[in-house]
Amino acid sequence: MDHQNILVWFRNDLRSQDSETLYQAAQAAKRTGTIIFPIYCFDPRHFGNSSFGFAKTGAFRAKFLIESIANLRDNLRSLNSDLIIRIGKPEDVLPDFVRQWGISSIYYHAEITAEEKEVEANLCSVLKTQNIQINSFWGSTLLHPDDLPFAIANLPELFTHFRKQVEIDFTVRKVFPTPDDLQPLPANLDIGEIPNLATFGLTEPITCDRAVLQFRGGETEALKRLEHYFWQSDRLQVYKQTRNGMLYADDSSKFSPWLALGCISPRYIYAQVKQYERDRLANDSTYWLIFELLWRDYFRFVATKHGDKLFYRTGLRGIDIPWKQDWKRFELWTTGNTGFPLVDANMRELDLTGFMSNRGRQNVASFLTKNLGIDWRMGAEWFESLLIDYDPCSNWGNWNYTAGIGNDARGFRFFNISKQSQEYDPQGAYIKHWLPELDSLPANKIHQPWNLLPIEQKRFGVRLGVDYPNPVIDLFASAKAASAQIKRD
Ligand SMILES: Cc1cc2nc3c(=O)[nH]c(=O)nc-3n(C[C@H](O)[C@H](O)[C@H](O)COP(=O)(O)OP(=O)(O)OC[C@H]3O[C@@H](n4cnc5c(N)ncnc54)[C@H](O)[C@@H]3O)c2cc1C
Repeated sequence: MDHQNILVWFRNDLRSQDSETLYQAAQAAKRTGTIIFPIYCFDPRHFGNSSFGFAKTGAFRAKFLIESIANLRDNLRSLNSDLIIRIGKPEDVLPDFVRQWGISSIYYHAEITAEEKEVEANLCSVLKTQNIQINSFWGSTLLHPDDLPFAIANLPELFTHFRKQVEIDFTVRKVFPTPDDLQPLPANLDIGEIPNLATFGLTEPITCDRAVLQFRGGETEALKRLEHYFWQSDRLQVYKQTRNGMLYADDSSKFSPWLALGCISPRYIYAQVKQYERDRLANDSTYWLIFELLWRDYFRFVATKHGDKLFYRTGLRGIDIPWKQDWKRFELWTTGNTGFPLVDANMRELDLTGFMSNRGRQNVASFLTKNLGIDWRMGAEWFESLLIDYDPCSNWGNWNYTAGIGNDARGFRFFNISKQSQEYDPQGAYIKHWLPELDSLPANKIHQPWNLLPIEQKRFGVRLGVDYPNPVIDLFASAKAASAQIKRD
């Protein structure tokens, strides 16, 4: 057995294009005339329960992941290779594989958060005893940490400061080319079958025809979505004006699920924005999409700098707030029965589709923490379980921020749900889409149904406490109480 073969370990980088690991491995294989073994391990720990008892990976994301894996396999097959599938912990599976197939080096993308880093550390310590050469790369952000004008330890605690400093000499590395050909895998290798949802005790989610988009996993779908959003529908040029919309597929890019699993890289999106600016137009919208990708980067760098604190009850700032673990009210929130239409519509969308807009996420997270005073980690874990685009840095980072315990926490700020509802859904079209029981209410009544007089309830056929819930709390009194509590403690 030739002992020069290369293992490419895929993780949250499920693409063949702009993959530094695949590119560098292919170059090395070409030099030495050896074989690349691309592998993905379904780690059973990802399918366990979270600390509050929710499925860590719910059916929406599991389905998206399986589709992404199938697509990566197809794409590697078109390069004459394949994707080897194993179910098990990488630190158990890979050392055996390495022994069996004469592997001398491993290539992979490094991850940022604790659980993923621990897997990596455990794996590498075994591989080192096997004399395997370890090559890890950084591939999930737009900006490479080595190109930042400061060390990660000196990362500014305010996004604006970060943005202003990186924009002085904005350096985005080039997209790595896809290798045109890989060596075929040995015929006697068991490439393994792609598991299905039942393997993880999950059932196929029901397709929801009200979903904002029928997301399908994989690099091919990600590229199609970009092609549509930028080039076919030309929506990039109005992104800044439409991005807060909640109802329509093209209100925003919807790139997040593919970015989270690395089916598309932010560098490629950036290169396409630049192309669009050259070929069509450059305006505040083309800038703003990059601005949002910088937020994504920022949360990754914040997680790198602050480590585990991201997941602490007291958050990045170490602020001790007496959060409640009120399961009764939490359930009203998760099921969309709080009596606040904007919150309820968004929570039902999440429950039925695994997606929610950014505007929606900000409102429901503010409501859970600032009005209900519920432990923000319960909300973060609920999102982790349901979101198709769950990404530890973006999710836990945004929750820290909204709960007011983030690195840049400044005083007590909360979203006025009724005002947000009027501003971002003036006709109530989004609310009616997800709460058909409020269909008959006119625009001036739908945002605060608790104000409906008995005669109006009769006229519109909406009985409070029967057809639609009474509000679980008073919006302002609850925010005032929460604010006073924070000041007191
Ligand atoms: C409480 C809360 C939890 C969140 N959890 C996640 C999560 O688990 N995964 C996730 O990808 N995003 C998360 N976000 C950020 C944001 O809501 C989503 O990225 C966005 O809604 C995805 O839709 P889009 O792709 O159409 O975004 P667009 O508006 O088209 O933005 C383009 C891209 O920029 C990035 N981006 C935009 N806004 C943010 C932001 N606030 N923070 C980080 N990146 C951003 C995303 O990668 C997004 O795909 C969360 C936000 C909040 C308030």
